[in-house]
Amino acid sequence: MNYELSRKQMVDQQIIRRGVSDPGVLAAMQKVPRHLFVQEALQYRAYDDNPLPIGEAQTISQPYIVALMSQNLNIKGGEKVLEIGTGSGYQAAVLAEMGAKVFTIERVEKLYHNSRKLLEELKYHDIAVKLGDGTIGWAEHAPYDRIIVTAGAPEVPKAYWDQLAEGGRIAIPVGDVHVQSLVLVDKVEGQQVKSEVCGCVFVPLIGKYGWQTNGQ
Ligand code: SAH
Repeated sequence: MNYELSRKQMVDQQIIRRGVSDPGVLAAMQKVPRHLFVQEALQYRAYDDNPLPIGEAQTISQPYIVALMSQNLNIKGGEKVLEIGTGSGYQAAVLAEMGAKVFTIERVEKLYHNSRKLLEELKYHDIAVKLGDGTIGWAEHAPYDRIIVTAGAPEVPKAYWDQLAEGGRIAIPVGDVHVQSLVLVDKVEGQQVKSEVCGCVFVPLIGKYGWQTNGQ
C-alpha cells in the first residue's frame, strides 16, 4: 500500500473538502504516519473516513475530527498543550508536528505504554506522556496555552480552567456518554467565553471529575 498517497487522499477528500484550511494542520496530517498508530491488522484502513479500534475498548478518532479540533486550537508554534486521552498517540503527534509542546495523559496502562514507545520510536521528543487520571489535569506543568480533551465529559473539569493560561483555550466534548457537543472555552481577561463547534461522539472521559465507570 502507498501510505503517502493514502494520506494525501485523506487530507484532500476528508479534511480540505470539509473546510479545514489551517496550513499547519494540513501539513501535519500529511506527515504523521497514521497507519503506525493502529494495530497491524487494521493498517489498511488507517486512512479511512472513520474512527478505528485501538484495543482496550478505545478508539483513534476519525481523521476529520482530529483536524477540526487541531484547527480550533489555533496553534502557531511554541504553545504548551495539555491533551487528555493519549489513546494511540496520533493526536499528540499531529499537535507536535504543528510546533506545540505537548503534555498528554492516558489512564489505560497498556495504551500509555504503547503510545509512549511509538512516539519515542518516531522521535517525538517534545511530547511528555503520563499515566493517570487526566480529569485532574497535570498541575506540575501548568499553565497551558491550550487544553484538548479527546474523550467525552459530563462537564468541564474545574482543574482545566485553573490550569489554563490567560488567553488560552480548552477544546472539550461535553454531553452524555453517547453524544456530545464540541465546546471551546476561552479565558479572556479571566472570564469564560464559551462557544460550540459541532456535535460529536467520543468514548467517555472516566475519572474523578468525569464519568465514574464506563457508561455511568
Ligand atoms: N487522542 C486519541 C484518541 C483517544 S480515545 C488518539 O489520537 O488516538 C480517548 C482516550 O481517552 C482513551 O484512550 C481513554 O482511555 C482515555 N481516557 C478516558 N478517560 C481518561 C482520563 N480520565 N484520563 C486520561 N485518559 C482518559
